[in-house]
Amino acid sequence: MPDIFQSALSRLEEASKHCQIDPETLQRLRHPMAIFQVSVPVRMDDGSLKIFKGYRVRHNDVLGPTKGGLRYHPQVDLGEVKSLAFWMTCKCAAVGIPFGGAKGGITVDPKNLSKLELERLSRGFIQQLAGFIGPDTDIPAPDVYTNPTIMGWMVDEYSKIHHQKLPAVITGKPVPLGGSLGREEATGRGAYHCIKQLEKIRDWSPSEIRVAIQGFGNAGQHVASLLHRDGYRIVAISDSHGAAYRESGLEIPRIIEEKNRTRSLSGVYCECSVSTCSPCENEGTRRITNSELLELDVDVLIPAALENQLTVENADRIKAPVIVEVANGPTQPEADQILNSKGTLIVPDILANAGGVTVSYFEWLQNRSGDRWSLDEVRDRLFISMSAAFKAIYSRMNGGEMTFRTAAYVHALERIDAAVDSQGTYSYFSH
Ligand code: NAD
Repeated sequence: MPDIFQSALSRLEEASKHCQIDPETLQRLRHPMAIFQVSVPVRMDDGSLKIFKGYRVRHNDVLGPTKGGLRYHPQVDLGEVKSLAFWMTCKCAAVGIPFGGAKGGITVDPKNLSKLELERLSRGFIQQLAGFIGPDTDIPAPDVYTNPTIMGWMVDEYSKIHHQKLPAVITGKPVPLGGSLGREEATGRGAYHCIKQLEKIRDWSPSEIRVAIQGFGNAGQHVASLLHRDGYRIVAISDSHGAAYRESGLEIPRIIEEKNRTRSLSGVYCECSVSTCSPCENEGTRRITNSELLELDVDVLIPAALENQLTVENADRIKAPVIVEVANGPTQPEADQILNSKGTLIVPDILANAGGVTVSYFEWLQNRSGDRWSLDEVRDRLFISMSAAFKAIYSRMNGGEMTFRTAAYVHALERIDAAVDSQGTYSYFSH
């Protein structure tokens, strides 16, 4: 497996062939500005002590305070966090959000912890990070297996440490603690706006479009629900336990209801899987594997789980002509080449999942101003922002001169380069 951070950086090299970027900008982007690694001791319910490894990487802050989620997952390591932080820098620049990029995480399987252990771990992580993050420096948010409940514990801990209310330090909080209406749905809704743009360009009739979605968490559920509402046929969905397939289309609202009903049992994570919970066992529904889901003959494939799902091993067998990357980094660069040569259109992650950071920015603005926006206002602004970013990046493909992904990176790099240039580069000082 190639080094994930080097692999992420290869997008820079490709994009820089298509634009005039100062070599110093590229030099800076190849190195995260700061890396913080911590050990978090947690008193477990049985009285024993466990130590968990945590990371926070600030990749680049030339465009503003750094921003990015916190992930709880057994596979979290420094290489992954560095890559995710790099993608955040590019994403914020691509969609014009005045933030830089960061990311963090803990190497843990959170489903093995009780709710109280999870709270102790989350508060312990913030005790370690308290000097590193801040409303004007670095602003965390939820990511895989973290959610508003966890963000609520974290912002409470941070405020206690600093003896003042500082809600703007973390976004994706529960609404009563200063969270924004519309933040939970924002990533899925942003991806939905991208698909609606494609619907216009490709003249799609939703009922004829079959969609498969890998990952049925926050992002996957919301995009599924909005597409289902518009009449799209969601034929397959999956989670970490497996996938469900139904040729006539799955009943998305019922499956979401069942997932949420079982979540209330454990408080944080749902206990049922889309591949086994009762509404999925409707007539005509069958269980398939996650890899079978990726290779289905569908019109749109939406990876919405983890990185490196589309690889050199399976790229040849991917049949969907359109891929919308709701997950961060689901496609390896080598797989990209195979998919591009088949004519697959890939809406890249740094655009497709930017709805989350966009509404996180709205939340931060509300926290800073003391204002509260209505759900309609948040949704309207998200629509305007995502549609504008989609159109600007799509038009830069120049009818196929570069891929959608390269166009997004070119768009992002030019913004970053303009800011680096304003700070002063070699050419600036040598004249
Ligand atoms: P989540 O924790 O809410 O859901 C993750 C989902 O992925 C769950 O359904 C889980 O069962 C599934 N999953 C985990 N391992 C899997 C596997 N091996 N195969 C198939 N499914 C698997 O996380 P989320 O917030 O929905 O994030 C999903 C992706 O979207 C991640 O790549 C994340 O970085 C990206 N993303 C999320 C946000 C956000 O605001 N939440 C924003 C931008 C990007």
